[in-house]
Amino acid sequence: MTARRRTMLAAAAVLLLPGCTSFADTVTAQDRPSNGEPVPEAVGAAACPAERAEADPDRPVVALDFRLEDDRTTVTGTETVEFTPDLPVRELVFRLVPNGPRSAPAGNRLVVDAVRGDDVAESRYEDAGAVDPGGLYVVDLEDGLAAGESTEVELDFTLSLGTGGFDRLGTDDGVSWWASGAPLLAWEPGVGWAEDPFVDLSGETATSPTADTTVSVSAPEALTVLLPGAQADPSEPRDGRRTWTSTEPVARDTAVAAGEFTTAEGSASGVRVRTGVLPAAELTSDEVLAGTLDAIAALEPHLGPFPYEALTIALLPDYGGGIEYPGLILQATPSPQVLVHEVAHMWFYGMVGNSQFRDPWLDEAFASWAESLVDGDEGLVDEDALALDGRVGGAMTDFPDPRTYFRVVYDKGGAALFAAREAAGAEAFDAAIRCYVDASAWSIATPEDLGRALADLPEALAVLNTAGALDKDDVPR
Ligand SMILES: [Zn+2]
Repeated sequence: MTARRRTMLAAAAVLLLPGCTSFADTVTAQDRPSNGEPVPEAVGAAACPAERAEADPDRPVVALDFRLEDDRTTVTGTETVEFTPDLPVRELVFRLVPNGPRSAPAGNRLVVDAVRGDDVAESRYEDAGAVDPGGLYVVDLEDGLAAGESTEVELDFTLSLGTGGFDRLGTDDGVSWWASGAPLLAWEPGVGWAEDPFVDLSGETATSPTADTTVSVSAPEALTVLLPGAQADPSEPRDGRRTWTSTEPVARDTAVAAGEFTTAEGSASGVRVRTGVLPAAELTSDEVLAGTLDAIAALEPHLGPFPYEALTIALLPDYGGGIEYPGLILQATPSPQVLVHEVAHMWFYGMVGNSQFRDPWLDEAFASWAESLVDGDEGLVDEDALALDGRVGGAMTDFPDPRTYFRVVYDKGGAALFAAREAAGAEAFDAAIRCYVDASAWSIATPEDLGRALADLPEALAVLNTAGALDKDDVPR
């Protein structure tokens, strides 16, 4: 997500690194087992996988069946979730993103109307800092599940879309869109349920696993529906409606845009890109397509192959930013720089997931840093931000206001990654980041995963340590 356009800043010729801290000098790849101690995990180059990790074969299977009513502001639907936890559980927890304090005031609201399943006992809302009826929906299971045991539940829901603005849900002339518009399975593999509170900042707080996802949308016939993943042709019109479907086998969440879109399609390096623009748009669908293909081509040499087989860009009215979803970007600005930022999120958040509450910098600082990789345009980096107070690695509750959050996580975080790359050497740094990306693909990454990949680059670690991005506990010794 990015909510503002940065001004171009002149690139400073010299980066002064604050004094190296002692831990960086002690960071070395240790692969010698000592008596009686466990063999340390591989670190640095030794931790680099030969191939990108594959998604968990036991990941959730999610089917979302939406119907955009004729009023174009009400979405009814059914979600089917097949879930196999890797830890014992007694309940299922879903996050109701539209009820968050930033979305609900515009009139967005998600209500669960019914829940079904052989293992379902009772269910309830929990507040979690969101607005009525609550930010979490908890489904108690009759007997719980052991690790590796599966259950299937079905939830009926009603989603109300509010007035348009820079948000993941809304309506405007001739367009309705909703992202995180269904109950979101809030599971962090290896950790448990992510029940983090909502915060009153324009940023994400959700954590969700990669899921094998199918989406179906019934919409008024006049509308074109844009979906992530492999999208089929719509059904023939019937009763004034058409049904649109798509599949994305590795989506942690989903987004839908239904509007009077004109579309364009193209592909590069095996990625199929579809773009859609509204009648009053500042750009044509072909211009958005060209910009997207350029962004993918510019980022792949640094980050490795684009994560998805398909990418959809829905250009919304200009609310001044972009919002990333796996395989679909709600682009609400004509800014090419913001588009690069959102495309970079396909690697950082989409494929390399993170707890957007606990470690927001793992997607936002990296997407901001990626902007500087395109056209070698390091002038985009705000080096002054390095001197700001505040830990880049803070959680969403550590930032007192939206401006501090953006300045520290995006600007200082992006600048810190840029400075770390300068300090370690661009080639070595990018190679280590590709190792991190490949090793963490389709999982929910942690700062420790990044520290492991950077362990051979003490100069980079020193920069990230000084910025409060990584701390010494994140780096294996
Ligand atoms: Zn972002």
